[in-house]
Amino acid sequence: MNENKPLVAEIISVGTELLLGEIADTNSQYLSRRLRDLGIYIYHKSVVGDNKARIISEIKNAAARSDIIILGGGLGPTEDDLTRDALAEYLGEEMYLDEAMFEEIKAMFLCRQRIMPDSNKKQAMIVPSADFLPNPVGTAPGWIAKKNGKIFITLPGPPEEQKRVWHEAEQRLPVSKRHIYCRTIRTSGIGESHLAEMIKDYTLLEDPVVGIYCRDNGIDVRISSASDCLNESKIKTEASVEKLSEILKPFVYGYDEETIGGVALKKLAESGESLAVFENITEGLLTDNIMRETHWKSAYKGTLILPDAFTDVSEKTAIKAAKQARKQLSADWGLAITGIPNAEPEKTASKITAAIALASSDIIFTAFTKWAGTPEMVKQRAVRTALNLLRDSLEAGR
Ligand code: ATP
Ligand code: MG
Repeated sequence: MNENKPLVAEIISVGTELLLGEIADTNSQYLSRRLRDLGIYIYHKSVVGDNKARIISEIKNAAARSDIIILGGGLGPTEDDLTRDALAEYLGEEMYLDEAMFEEIKAMFLCRQRIMPDSNKKQAMIVPSADFLPNPVGTAPGWIAKKNGKIFITLPGPPEEQKRVWHEAEQRLPVSKRHIYCRTIRTSGIGESHLAEMIKDYTLLEDPVVGIYCRDNGIDVRISSASDCLNESKIKTEASVEKLSEILKPFVYGYDEETIGGVALKKLAESGESLAVFENITEGLLTDNIMRETHWKSAYKGTLILPDAFTDVSEKTAIKAAKQARKQLSADWGLAITGIPNAEPEKTASKITAAIALASSDIIFTAFTKWAGTPEMVKQRAVRTALNLLRDSLEAGR
Protein backbone atom coordinates (compact mmCIF):
# COMPACT_ATOMS: atom_id res chain seq x y z
CA MET A 1 0.00 0.00 0.00
CA ASN A 2 1.31 3.43 -0.94
CA GLU A 3 1.93 5.45 2.24
CA ASN A 4 0.68 8.75 0.80
CA LYS A 5 -2.42 7.53 -0.93
CA PRO A 6 -5.72 7.27 0.90
CA LEU A 7 -6.82 3.77 1.82
CA VAL A 8 -9.55 2.58 -0.49
CA ALA A 9 -12.07 -0.08 0.46
CA GLU A 10 -14.70 -1.84 -1.60
CA ILE A 11 -17.74 -3.78 -0.46
CA ILE A 12 -19.12 -6.87 -2.17
CA SER A 13 -22.53 -7.91 -0.83
CA VAL A 14 -23.23 -11.56 -1.57
CA GLY A 15 -26.73 -13.03 -1.82
CA THR A 16 -29.23 -13.84 -4.56
CA GLU A 17 -31.99 -12.48 -2.33
CA LEU A 18 -30.32 -9.05 -2.58
CA LEU A 19 -30.34 -9.21 -6.38
CA LEU A 20 -33.99 -10.23 -6.46
CA GLY A 21 -34.99 -7.31 -4.28
CA GLU A 22 -36.23 -9.53 -1.46
CA ILE A 23 -34.04 -7.70 1.04
CA ALA A 24 -32.35 -4.34 0.90
CA ASP A 25 -28.59 -4.07 1.25
CA THR A 26 -28.59 -2.24 4.56
CA ASN A 27 -25.32 -3.90 5.61
CA SER A 28 -23.24 -2.04 3.07
CA GLN A 29 -24.89 1.21 4.10
CA TYR A 30 -23.69 0.64 7.66
CA LEU A 31 -20.20 -0.37 6.53
CA SER A 32 -19.89 2.68 4.25
CA ARG A 33 -20.58 4.99 7.16
CA ARG A 34 -18.06 3.26 9.37
CA LEU A 35 -15.43 3.42 6.61
CA ARG A 36 -16.08 7.13 6.15
CA ASP A 37 -15.57 7.69 9.88
CA LEU A 38 -12.31 5.77 9.71
CA GLY A 39 -11.05 8.01 6.88
CA ILE A 40 -11.15 5.12 4.41
CA TYR A 41 -12.39 6.01 0.93
CA ILE A 42 -14.90 3.97 -0.96
CA TYR A 43 -15.29 4.22 -4.74
CA HIS A 44 -17.16 1.03 -5.60
CA LYS A 45 -19.76 -1.32 -4.14
CA SER A 46 -21.29 -4.36 -5.77
CA VAL A 47 -23.96 -6.99 -5.23
CA VAL A 48 -23.50 -10.52 -6.52
CA GLY A 49 -25.63 -13.66 -6.27
CA ASP A 50 -24.75 -16.98 -4.62
CA ASN A 51 -22.55 -18.15 -7.49
CA LYS A 52 -18.89 -19.02 -6.93
CA ALA A 53 -17.55 -18.00 -10.35
CA ARG A 54 -19.26 -14.63 -10.20
CA ILE A 55 -18.11 -13.98 -6.62
CA ILE A 56 -14.52 -14.70 -7.68
CA SER A 57 -14.88 -12.36 -10.63
CA GLU A 58 -16.10 -9.58 -8.29
CA ILE A 59 -13.16 -10.19 -5.94
CA LYS A 60 -10.77 -9.87 -8.91
CA ASN A 61 -12.30 -6.57 -10.03
CA ALA A 62 -12.21 -5.22 -6.49
CA ALA A 63 -8.64 -6.31 -5.78
CA ALA A 64 -7.45 -4.61 -8.97
CA ARG A 65 -8.52 -1.19 -7.73
CA SER A 66 -8.95 -1.25 -3.94
CA ASP A 67 -6.80 -1.94 -0.86
CA ILE A 68 -9.46 -3.49 1.36
CA ILE A 69 -12.03 -5.92 -0.06
CA ILE A 70 -14.98 -6.64 2.19
CA LEU A 71 -17.32 -9.53 1.43
CA GLY A 72 -20.63 -9.60 3.33
CA GLY A 73 -22.93 -12.65 3.50
CA GLY A 74 -22.66 -16.23 2.37
CA LEU A 75 -20.86 -17.55 5.47
CA GLY A 76 -23.70 -19.85 6.55
CA PRO A 77 -23.48 -23.65 6.63
CA THR A 78 -25.58 -24.43 3.56
CA GLU A 79 -24.65 -25.32 -0.02
CA ASP A 80 -25.41 -21.86 -1.33
CA ASP A 81 -23.06 -20.20 1.16
CA LEU A 82 -20.03 -19.81 -1.09
CA THR A 83 -18.06 -16.80 0.08
CA ARG A 84 -15.37 -18.82 1.86
CA ASP A 85 -14.89 -21.16 -1.12
CA ALA A 86 -14.72 -18.24 -3.56
CA LEU A 87 -12.13 -16.31 -1.56
CA ALA A 88 -10.02 -19.43 -0.96
CA GLU A 89 -10.01 -20.16 -4.69
CA TYR A 90 -9.15 -16.55 -5.54
CA LEU A 91 -6.26 -16.60 -3.05
CA GLY A 92 -5.14 -19.95 -4.48
CA GLU A 93 -5.18 -21.60 -1.07
CA GLU A 94 -6.66 -24.79 0.36
CA MET A 95 -9.02 -24.55 3.32
CA TYR A 96 -8.33 -26.65 6.39
CA LEU A 97 -10.35 -27.35 9.51
CA ASP A 98 -9.31 -25.23 12.48
CA GLU A 99 -9.78 -27.55 15.44
CA ALA A 100 -10.00 -24.79 18.05
CA MET A 101 -12.70 -22.94 16.10
CA PHE A 102 -14.53 -26.23 15.53
CA GLU A 103 -14.63 -26.79 19.30
CA GLU A 104 -15.88 -23.23 19.83
CA ILE A 105 -18.75 -23.70 17.38
CA LYS A 106 -19.65 -27.05 18.95
CA ALA A 107 -19.66 -25.39 22.38
CA MET A 108 -22.00 -22.68 21.08
CA PHE A 109 -24.49 -25.34 19.96
CA LEU A 110 -24.15 -27.12 23.29
CA CYS A 111 -24.86 -23.88 25.08
CA ARG A 112 -28.06 -23.54 23.02
CA GLN A 113 -28.84 -27.17 23.94
CA ARG A 114 -28.70 -28.30 20.34
CA ILE A 115 -26.60 -30.85 18.51
CA MET A 116 -24.35 -29.34 15.88
CA PRO A 117 -25.31 -30.44 12.35
CA ASP A 118 -22.37 -31.68 10.28
CA SER A 119 -22.78 -28.84 7.83
CA ASN A 120 -21.66 -26.30 10.43
CA LYS A 121 -18.17 -27.76 10.23
CA LYS A 122 -17.74 -25.49 7.18
CA GLN A 123 -17.74 -22.48 9.45
CA ALA A 124 -14.55 -23.66 11.17
CA MET A 125 -12.68 -23.88 7.85
CA ILE A 126 -10.02 -21.30 6.99
CA VAL A 127 -7.07 -20.69 4.64
CA PRO A 128 -3.46 -20.35 5.87
CA SER A 129 -3.13 -16.63 5.13
CA ALA A 130 -6.30 -15.70 7.05
CA ASP A 131 -7.15 -15.24 10.73
CA PHE A 132 -10.60 -15.65 12.19
CA LEU A 133 -12.64 -12.63 13.21
CA PRO A 134 -14.59 -13.84 16.24
CA ASN A 135 -18.39 -13.76 16.12
CA PRO A 136 -19.74 -13.68 19.68
CA VAL A 137 -23.39 -13.65 18.55
CA GLY A 138 -23.49 -16.38 15.90
CA THR A 139 -21.81 -19.49 14.55
CA ALA A 140 -20.14 -17.92 11.50
CA PRO A 141 -16.82 -16.24 12.29
CA GLY A 142 -15.37 -13.88 9.67
CA TRP A 143 -11.92 -13.98 8.10
CA ILE A 144 -9.24 -11.39 7.63
CA ALA A 145 -6.54 -12.27 5.11
CA LYS A 146 -3.60 -10.06 4.20
CA LYS A 147 -2.00 -11.00 0.91
CA ASN A 148 -0.13 -9.18 -1.90
CA GLY A 149 -0.58 -5.83 -0.16
CA LYS A 150 -4.38 -6.23 -0.01
CA ILE A 151 -6.69 -7.00 2.87
CA PHE A 152 -9.62 -9.38 2.36
CA ILE A 153 -12.40 -9.53 4.93
CA THR A 154 -15.44 -11.80 5.11
CA LEU A 155 -18.42 -10.95 7.31
CA PRO A 156 -21.63 -12.87 8.07
CA GLY A 157 -24.87 -11.61 6.47
CA PRO A 158 -27.28 -11.20 9.43
CA PRO A 159 -26.95 -7.47 10.25
CA GLU A 160 -26.34 -7.71 14.00
CA GLU A 161 -23.71 -10.41 13.50
CA GLN A 162 -22.09 -8.40 10.74
CA LYS A 163 -21.74 -5.33 12.97
CA ARG A 164 -20.09 -7.32 15.75
CA VAL A 165 -17.65 -9.07 13.42
CA TRP A 166 -16.89 -5.82 11.58
CA HIS A 167 -15.97 -4.27 14.92
CA GLU A 168 -13.33 -7.02 15.26
CA ALA A 169 -12.09 -6.28 11.73
CA GLU A 170 -11.74 -2.55 12.44
CA GLN A 171 -9.22 -3.24 15.21
CA ARG A 172 -7.03 -5.03 12.66
CA LEU A 173 -7.05 -2.43 9.89
CA PRO A 174 -4.15 -0.06 9.22
CA VAL A 175 -4.83 3.47 10.43
CA SER A 176 -5.83 5.72 7.56
CA LYS A 177 -3.75 8.84 7.11
CA ARG A 178 -6.81 10.65 5.83
CA HIS A 179 -9.53 12.10 8.00
CA ILE A 180 -12.96 12.78 6.60
CA TYR A 181 -15.22 15.15 8.49
CA CYS A 182 -18.76 15.80 7.33
CA ARG A 183 -21.90 17.58 8.43
CA THR A 184 -25.38 17.88 6.96
CA ILE A 185 -27.57 20.96 7.03
CA ARG A 186 -31.23 19.99 6.72
CA THR A 187 -33.68 22.38 5.08
CA SER A 188 -37.34 22.45 4.18
CA GLY A 189 -39.62 24.86 2.38
CA ILE A 190 -37.23 25.64 -0.46
CA GLY A 191 -36.84 24.01 -3.88
CA GLU A 192 -33.63 22.38 -5.07
CA SER A 193 -32.80 24.83 -7.85
CA HIS A 194 -33.53 27.87 -5.72
CA LEU A 195 -31.31 26.52 -2.95
CA ALA A 196 -28.55 25.66 -5.46
CA GLU A 197 -28.65 29.23 -6.75
CA MET A 198 -28.30 30.62 -3.21
CA ILE A 199 -25.17 28.63 -2.41
CA LYS A 200 -23.55 28.30 -5.82
CA ASP A 201 -20.32 29.96 -4.68
CA TYR A 202 -19.85 27.06 -2.29
CA THR A 203 -20.81 24.13 -4.51
CA LEU A 204 -18.03 25.06 -6.92
CA LEU A 205 -15.33 24.68 -4.25
CA GLU A 206 -13.15 21.61 -4.11
CA ASP A 207 -12.55 21.68 -0.38
CA PRO A 208 -14.80 21.38 1.48
CA VAL A 209 -17.04 19.57 -0.95
CA VAL A 210 -20.63 20.85 -0.78
CA GLY A 211 -23.36 18.60 -2.18
CA ILE A 212 -27.11 19.10 -2.50
CA TYR A 213 -29.40 16.11 -1.94
CA CYS A 214 -33.14 15.91 -2.40
CA ARG A 215 -34.75 14.00 0.48
CA ASP A 216 -38.34 13.04 1.28
CA ASN A 217 -38.88 15.95 3.60
CA GLY A 218 -36.65 18.63 2.14
CA ILE A 219 -33.22 19.32 0.78
CA ASP A 220 -30.02 18.35 2.55
CA VAL A 221 -26.75 20.18 2.10
CA ARG A 222 -23.79 17.98 2.89
CA ILE A 223 -20.39 19.52 3.62
CA SER A 224 -17.29 17.39 3.89
CA SER A 225 -13.58 17.83 3.98
CA ALA A 226 -10.77 15.29 3.91
CA SER A 227 -7.20 15.97 4.95
CA ASP A 228 -4.27 14.47 6.85
CA CYS A 229 -5.45 16.12 10.04
CA LEU A 230 -8.89 15.65 11.55
CA ASN A 231 -8.82 19.06 13.15
CA GLU A 232 -8.07 20.72 9.83
CA SER A 233 -10.96 18.86 8.14
CA LYS A 234 -13.21 19.82 11.02
CA ILE A 235 -12.29 23.51 11.00
CA LYS A 236 -12.82 23.79 7.22
CA THR A 237 -16.15 21.97 7.36
CA GLU A 238 -17.50 23.85 10.37
CA ALA A 239 -16.56 27.22 8.87
CA SER A 240 -18.63 26.38 5.78
CA VAL A 241 -21.48 25.02 7.89
CA GLU A 242 -21.63 28.35 9.69
CA LYS A 243 -21.64 30.45 6.51
CA LEU A 244 -24.15 28.21 4.71
CA SER A 245 -26.42 28.13 7.76
CA GLU A 246 -26.47 31.91 7.69
CA ILE A 247 -27.38 32.04 3.98
CA LEU A 248 -30.06 29.36 4.31
CA LYS A 249 -31.27 30.48 7.74
CA PRO A 250 -35.04 30.72 7.08
CA PHE A 251 -35.08 27.16 5.73
CA VAL A 252 -32.79 25.30 8.13
CA TYR A 253 -34.66 23.00 10.51
CA GLY A 254 -31.80 20.92 11.82
CA TYR A 255 -28.44 19.24 11.37
CA ASP A 256 -27.11 15.75 10.65
CA GLU A 257 -29.58 13.09 11.82
CA GLU A 258 -32.24 15.51 13.05
CA THR A 259 -35.75 15.22 11.60
CA ILE A 260 -38.59 17.74 11.42
CA GLY A 261 -40.70 15.72 13.87
CA GLY A 262 -37.75 15.24 16.21
CA VAL A 263 -36.95 18.95 16.27
CA ALA A 264 -40.61 19.80 16.96
CA LEU A 265 -40.91 17.27 19.80
CA LYS A 266 -37.68 18.50 21.33
CA LYS A 267 -38.98 22.07 21.32
CA LEU A 268 -42.20 20.95 23.02
CA ALA A 269 -40.31 18.95 25.64
CA GLU A 270 -37.98 21.86 26.36
CA SER A 271 -40.87 24.18 27.03
CA GLY A 272 -42.68 21.52 29.07
CA GLU A 273 -45.62 21.38 26.67
CA SER A 274 -47.52 18.37 25.35
CA LEU A 275 -49.09 17.25 22.10
CA ALA A 276 -52.20 15.26 21.15
CA VAL A 277 -52.96 14.08 17.63
CA PHE A 278 -56.04 13.45 15.53
CA GLU A 279 -55.89 11.59 12.22
CA ASN A 280 -58.28 9.77 9.94
CA ILE A 281 -57.13 9.62 6.29
CA THR A 282 -53.50 9.11 7.25
CA GLU A 283 -54.39 5.92 9.15
CA GLY A 284 -51.89 6.25 11.98
CA LEU A 285 -48.95 7.41 9.87
CA LEU A 286 -48.52 10.70 11.73
CA THR A 287 -48.50 8.83 15.05
CA ASP A 288 -46.03 6.30 13.67
CA ASN A 289 -43.70 9.13 12.63
CA ILE A 290 -43.91 10.70 16.09
CA MET A 291 -43.26 7.40 17.88
CA ARG A 292 -40.14 6.78 15.82
CA GLU A 293 -38.47 9.77 17.44
CA THR A 294 -36.18 9.02 20.35
CA HIS A 295 -37.83 11.45 22.73
CA TRP A 296 -41.44 10.91 21.70
CA LYS A 297 -42.58 10.04 25.21
CA SER A 298 -41.56 13.37 26.70
CA ALA A 299 -44.20 15.45 24.89
CA TYR A 300 -46.66 13.15 23.15
CA LYS A 301 -49.93 12.34 24.93
CA GLY A 302 -51.75 10.13 22.45
CA THR A 303 -53.83 9.99 19.28
CA LEU A 304 -57.50 9.90 18.41
CA ILE A 305 -57.94 7.78 15.30
CA LEU A 306 -61.58 8.09 14.25
CA PRO A 307 -61.91 6.98 10.62
CA ASP A 308 -65.46 8.26 10.29
CA ALA A 309 -65.12 11.57 12.09
CA PHE A 310 -64.27 14.97 10.60
CA THR A 311 -64.35 13.62 7.06
CA ASP A 312 -64.46 16.80 5.10
CA VAL A 313 -61.88 19.23 3.91
CA SER A 314 -62.26 22.54 5.59
CA GLU A 315 -60.28 24.68 7.93
CA LYS A 316 -63.19 24.62 10.37
CA THR A 317 -63.30 20.82 10.52
CA ALA A 318 -59.54 20.51 11.01
CA ILE A 319 -59.62 23.04 13.84
CA LYS A 320 -62.49 21.18 15.50
CA ALA A 321 -60.56 17.90 15.33
CA ALA A 322 -57.39 19.49 16.72
CA LYS A 323 -59.36 21.01 19.59
CA GLN A 324 -61.10 17.73 20.37
CA ALA A 325 -57.78 15.86 20.49
CA ARG A 326 -56.13 18.37 22.82
CA LYS A 327 -59.14 18.48 25.09
CA GLN A 328 -59.83 14.76 25.24
CA LEU A 329 -56.18 13.87 25.84
CA SER A 330 -55.45 16.86 28.10
CA ALA A 331 -52.61 18.24 26.01
CA ASP A 332 -51.39 21.79 25.41
CA TRP A 333 -51.47 21.38 21.63
CA GLY A 334 -53.72 19.41 19.29
CA LEU A 335 -52.48 18.54 15.80
CA ALA A 336 -55.05 17.19 13.32
CA ILE A 337 -55.05 15.85 9.79
CA THR A 338 -58.58 15.60 8.41
CA GLY A 339 -59.96 14.84 4.98
CA ILE A 340 -62.13 12.67 2.81
CA PRO A 341 -60.95 9.09 2.68
CA ASN A 342 -59.99 7.89 -0.77
CA ALA A 343 -63.03 6.02 -2.08
CA GLU A 344 -60.93 4.12 -4.61
CA PRO A 345 -57.71 3.18 -2.86
CA GLU A 346 -56.80 0.73 -5.63
CA LYS A 347 -56.47 3.63 -8.06
CA THR A 348 -52.79 4.36 -8.58
CA ALA A 349 -53.19 8.09 -8.99
CA SER A 350 -55.66 9.96 -6.91
CA LYS A 351 -56.18 13.42 -5.64
CA ILE A 352 -56.68 13.67 -1.92
CA THR A 353 -57.03 16.89 -0.09
CA ALA A 354 -56.28 17.19 3.56
CA ALA A 355 -56.86 20.02 5.95
CA ILE A 356 -54.40 20.32 8.82
CA ALA A 357 -54.71 22.31 12.00
CA LEU A 358 -52.68 22.96 15.10
CA ALA A 359 -54.50 24.39 18.09
CA SER A 360 -53.61 25.46 21.61
CA SER A 361 -56.06 27.03 24.05
CA ASP A 362 -55.85 30.34 22.24
CA ILE A 363 -53.81 29.99 19.05
CA ILE A 364 -54.59 28.27 15.78
CA PHE A 365 -52.43 27.49 12.73
CA THR A 366 -53.70 25.75 9.61
CA ALA A 367 -52.41 24.29 6.38
CA PHE A 368 -53.87 22.58 3.32
CA THR A 369 -52.48 19.88 1.12
CA LYS A 370 -53.69 18.97 -2.31
CA TRP A 371 -51.58 16.72 -4.45
CA ALA A 372 -52.00 14.23 -7.19
CA GLY A 373 -50.19 11.00 -6.48
CA THR A 374 -50.69 7.50 -5.22
CA PRO A 375 -52.64 7.33 -1.93
CA GLU A 376 -49.39 6.39 -0.18
CA MET A 377 -47.59 9.48 -1.51
CA VAL A 378 -50.46 11.73 -0.55
CA LYS A 379 -50.57 10.34 3.00
CA GLN A 380 -46.82 10.83 3.41
CA ARG A 381 -47.15 14.36 2.14
CA ALA A 382 -49.97 15.20 4.55
CA VAL A 383 -47.90 13.89 7.48
CA ARG A 384 -44.86 15.91 6.44
CA THR A 385 -47.00 19.03 6.10
CA ALA A 386 -48.45 18.46 9.58
CA LEU A 387 -45.02 18.00 11.18
CA ASN A 388 -43.74 21.07 9.35
CA LEU A 389 -46.69 23.10 10.57
CA LEU A 390 -45.93 22.01 14.12
CA ARG A 391 -42.25 22.84 13.86
CA ASP A 392 -42.76 26.17 12.06
CA SER A 393 -45.42 27.30 14.51
CA LEU A 394 -43.31 26.47 17.54
CA GLU A 395 -40.34 28.11 15.83
CA ALA A 396 -42.32 31.28 15.24
CA GLY A 397 -42.32 31.56 19.03
CA ARG A 398 -46.10 31.97 19.13
P1 ATP B 1 -26.65 -17.51 7.49
O1 ATP B 1 -25.88 -18.36 8.44
O2 ATP B 1 -27.86 -16.88 8.11
O3 ATP B 1 -26.91 -18.17 6.17
P2 ATP B 1 -24.78 -15.87 5.99
O4 ATP B 1 -23.51 -15.27 6.49
O5 ATP B 1 -24.65 -16.99 5.01
O6 ATP B 1 -25.65 -16.25 7.22
P3 ATP B 1 -26.61 -14.78 4.15
O7 ATP B 1 -27.15 -16.15 3.97
O8 ATP B 1 -26.00 -14.11 2.99
O9 ATP B 1 -25.56 -14.73 5.33
O10 ATP B 1 -27.72 -13.83 4.76
C1 ATP B 1 -28.44 -14.20 5.92
C2 ATP B 1 -29.46 -13.15 6.21
O11 ATP B 1 -28.79 -11.94 6.57
C3 ATP B 1 -30.32 -12.74 5.02
O12 ATP B 1 -31.44 -13.54 4.84
C4 ATP B 1 -30.69 -11.32 5.41
O13 ATP B 1 -31.75 -11.33 6.32
C5 ATP B 1 -29.47 -10.82 6.08
N1 ATP B 1 -28.58 -10.12 5.13
C6 ATP B 1 -27.67 -10.67 4.31
N2 ATP B 1 -27.03 -9.76 3.58
C7 ATP B 1 -27.57 -8.57 3.92
C8 ATP B 1 -27.33 -7.22 3.51
N3 ATP B 1 -26.39 -6.92 2.61
N4 ATP B 1 -28.07 -6.24 4.09
C9 ATP B 1 -29.01 -6.56 5.01
N5 ATP B 1 -29.27 -7.79 5.44
C10 ATP B 1 -28.57 -8.80 4.91
MG1 MG C 1 -26.57 -17.97 4.15
